[in-house]
Amino acid sequence: MSQAVLQVENLTKRYGEVVAVNGVSFEVMRGEIFGILGPNGAGKTTTLEMIETLRPIDAGRVVLDGIDVTAHPQRVKKIIGVQLQASSFFDKLRLTELLSLFGELYGRRVGPLQLLDEVELREKAQAFVNELSGGQKQRFSIAAALVNDPVILFLDEPTTGLDPQARRHLWGVIKRIRSEGKTIVLTTHYMEEAEELCDRVAIMDKGKIIANAPPQTLIQQLLLNGFRKERVERLANLEDVFLSLTGHSLREE
Ligand code: ATP
Repeated sequence: MSQAVLQVENLTKRYGEVVAVNGVSFEVMRGEIFGILGPNGAGKTTTLEMIETLRPIDAGRVVLDGIDVTAHPQRVKKIIGVQLQASSFFDKLRLTELLSLFGELYGRRVGPLQLLDEVELREKAQAFVNELSGGQKQRFSIAAALVNDPVILFLDEPTTGLDPQARRHLWGVIKRIRSEGKTIVLTTHYMEEAEELCDRVAIMDKGKIIANAPPQTLIQQLLLNGFRKERVERLANLEDVFLSLTGHSLREE
């Protein structure tokens, strides 16, 4: 029986008249990849930021690895990994130096090269962040989120803006991190990504969770309800053309 490492109960956030997050409840099991999907403005980022202690919770409760987030935000900060935007890193330090510095902030001595291996960036160890491609920056920001060996890794739209090869590369990295025992919570606007990566997804709309199940279960439910695509599935699409012409290997390195 899997064990819940994150419990979210009736989580609520209001901004004036807007109820950005409206009584959201869900659990994340240890070792799974859990996706939060939903249209722009659904409340995904606000939900994540309340869990991550970055925004005050108006109502409801979050318990992370047995710790109440409102009562013990500092304890929670120590055991979570939050992927920051690459633009927020100092640009005067090399990748290894940045990772050592982040480790020190947690009072930890980290192995920068091991962390770079984890995200397949060892060959860029001596580079500066502004010398990295978009995909490399995203992978580096995941390495930075792993310095404290977190219980849960939070990724907010990790592949937005990446080309198809870089996106697939990042999927491989995320799957490997999970296979090493980490729990991952991510948001995405790419349904293919959610299907490929997530063990379960919660679909949010207007501040509420309207579905929560494994992707295949949701697809089966839709089919059982009689849904059929009007058009016959194409055997190839433009992404297939793009990948076939430019190759599956990465251009960035
Ligand atoms: P996206 O997919 O576009 O990132 P999201 O699902 O992450 O969207 P949120 O960013 O959580 O959505 O926003 C949820 C709602 O809360 C939106 O209506 C947004 O305008 C509102 N909102 C978010 N942050 C604030 C804020 N600081 N002040 C006022 N309203 C806010």
